Amino acid sequence: MGKNRKGGSSDSFEKVLTGKRQELLRRIEQQRAQLNNNEHEPDDEAALAVGSVEKELAMANLDRDTRTLAEVEAALRSLESGTYGICVRCEEAISDARLRALPWTRLCLECAAGGVRQVPDTRSAPRPRVLGTLEVAGTLRSRARAK
Ligand SMILES: [Zn+2]
Repeated sequence: MGKNRKGGSSDSFEKVLTGKRQELLRRIEQQRAQLNNNEHEPDDEAALAVGSVEKELAMANLDRDTRTLAEVEAALRSLESGTYGICVRCEEAISDARLRALPWTRLCLECAAGGVRQVPDTRSAPRPRVLGTLEVAGTLRSRARAK
């Protein structure tokens, strides 16, 4: 009892991740079905507009869920290979609280927040390249157009 602490905690993460994967797969399937459902043609413009908004929403959801699914699957693979819970950027252990909140995360809090550990010193950093005249003209033109 209590000897296999690591195994025990990754078991519960595996359960959470497997559940999440099933949920995502189900939702992705539903969204794909919704996107492919072109059989009933809307008969007026309002219905057509609603249909296209729903389609855009379904596409955005599908995109987001597909990305989360990839992260969940990567997390499940890292559980298998024993690298689960280690930040892929700085290789520090990700805190348990963060893993519980976001079990498929591959970045520790610092790296996810933009890499606080390697914040460049803006004063000593090289100055940004000065824009060429053509680029400036282009920027001004596109700004003028945007107004
Ligand atoms: Zn990190």
